[in-house]
Amino acid sequence: PDPMLRPEPMETDGEDRALRPQMLSDFVGQAEARANLRVFIESARMRGKAMDHTLFHGPPGLGKTTLAQIMARELGVNFKMTSGPVLARAGDLAAILTNLENRDVLFIDEIHRMNPAVEEVLYPAMEDFELDLVIGEGPAARTVRIELQPFTLVGATTRLGLLTTPLRDRFGIPTRLQFYTIDELDLIVTRGARLMGIPSEPAGTREIAKRARGTPRIAGRLLRRVIDFALVEGDGRLTREIADSALTRLGVDHIGLDSADRRYLTLMAEHYGGGPVGVETLSAALSESRDAIEEVIEPFLMQQGLVSRTPRGRMLARLGWRHLGLDAPRLQDS
Ligand code: ADP
Repeated sequence: PDPMLRPEPMETDGEDRALRPQMLSDFVGQAEARANLRVFIESARMRGKAMDHTLFHGPPGLGKTTLAQIMARELGVNFKMTSGPVLARAGDLAAILTNLENRDVLFIDEIHRMNPAVEEVLYPAMEDFELDLVIGEGPAARTVRIELQPFTLVGATTRLGLLTTPLRDRFGIPTRLQFYTIDELDLIVTRGARLMGIPSEPAGTREIAKRARGTPRIAGRLLRRVIDFALVEGDGRLTREIADSALTRLGVDHIGLDSADRRYLTLMAEHYGGGPVGVETLSAALSESRDAIEEVIEPFLMQQGLVSRTPRGRMLARLGWRHLGLDAPRLQDS
């Protein structure tokens, strides 16, 4: 599948750093999370304390990293960033923790992929701002306790279910991020076009918003590609016609599904009569990793009501059949 249409980060995403909202007030969408964060940030500032540890969970590209950066900016503290898979040894995390200043935000992306030995170090650090380090080896080994500056850990994960219970329990503020509505994505695309100096008609930005798979990261990428077509093949304005023809050429259908999404639905319909099918079977048949299916493909298809999850496996829902232009078999219980 075309990586441009997937919600995971890509090298070229650096271009849109200028589009990243800087403060909570210019962050569009996630109204509930935003309202809560505003209170917790304000309270931490009034008390002069580090804000409580915060966990963002939800599909990729919905703004977890962006919100963590905004928290640091609103709190007026430094922002440090790392990720679960990068922290290979306990010492890697210890080095980062001991360099934090009072009330700093430490962001750990993909926190569900942290090595257990590293995770052990995190527990006393989160709970008591302390680090237990083992110095030396064998009989001469001894433990020293190091005091840390109070800090805020912000964890992000696409898979809440893969977090260990002790880690999950140490976050005071667990926050689930949701797919964005078309209106919200329209605001994001309109703002992006304005920042890039491209005149846009409302139907043009709307077309991109409708086809962005509920995901700001995808909206930003589609916007840049549509602008390319507008400049080269149009008159430089973002119109509905240009957006439609560009997105169709990129393989994005009218509700934002890409080729990987359509392969998933087609496989369910044509080979498994609409299911139930187990995720392992789908993974093998599509040559996609189970993680990619569960973290990236399925959340949006389920949110759209195209697919449902049952104890016996995945089922193609009536809307899924209809999207493929097929009739659901009779007696299907979806
Ligand atoms: P995640 O960490 O959840 O994968 P990011 O925070 O990296 O997602 O966001 C992905 C992209 O989408 C970034 O380029 C960011 O600027 C943009 N983005 C995310 N949320 C919003 C939003 N609410 N408004 C505008 N742009 C957003």
